[in-house]
Amino acid sequence: MRFKLSLVWNLGGLLYREDGMPQTIKPRHPHENKLLRMLPEKDFNRLLPHLESVDVADLKVLHQPHKPITHAYFPNDSVVSLIAITEKGSTAEVGMVSNEGLVGISGLLGPNTNPYRAIVQVPGSAWRIRLKVLKAEFRKCPAIQDIIHRYLHTLLTQIAQSAVCNRFHTIEQRLARWLLGSQDRVGKDTFHYTHDFLARMLGTDRSSVTLGVGILRRAGLISNSRGRVTILDRRGLEAVSCECFFITKAEFADSTGQA
Ligand SMILES: [Zn+2]
Repeated sequence: MRFKLSLVWNLGGLLYREDGMPQTIKPRHPHENKLLRMLPEKDFNRLLPHLESVDVADLKVLHQPHKPITHAYFPNDSVVSLIAITEKGSTAEVGMVSNEGLVGISGLLGPNTNPYRAIVQVPGSAWRIRLKVLKAEFRKCPAIQDIIHRYLHTLLTQIAQSAVCNRFHTIEQRLARWLLGSQDRVGKDTFHYTHDFLARMLGTDRSSVTLGVGILRRAGLISNSRGRVTILDRRGLEAVSCECFFITKAEFADSTGQA
């Protein structure tokens, strides 16, 4: 176990212990999973013996479309993309999960499968738990239900907004949204993303990504060379991004009390 968590409720940016007293602790690990951190201590302690710290590698597939889900993952510093795949093999990212969320949520809700591929976009650590165990706790524990339902709302918003974004917004807007989302999740300015990878995430072709990257680069918002993209001007990127980035971010903050 890397660290022991002391758990408190986080409402509106203030932390409260279970007895209602405010508490001014900081997360003891910068990348610990926020959903786990939101659990009351007694509920977290029941999950603790079943949580396994695992390192997930770049591009590792955690869940395949329509295949049974055996484990759920609570990412820490890793980032996982939920990818929709067409019959012809084209792909687009419909959701991104990092330390604000959970991979495998559909396994808790009834069907033990989903139509998306869950693939590791940024390698790192995660907490893994057998779905059977988490499902049993989910069924009997109101606090876990509340947290999962709140997160589900944010994930649904993200998926719906992806559809809007891919239909109505320009490549530079979508690229800006996607890079801002990555920066928020990873906490870094530089990413190892090729144009081919970005095209698969954004549901477009490589030439469109090259066009979008060129627009952002010439505006001085990013630099790009040898498969690396660096954000140089976050505010400028926010100005270019479509509203999708801000809508999903606000929904997450409203639903979970976290920025
Ligand atoms: Zn958009």
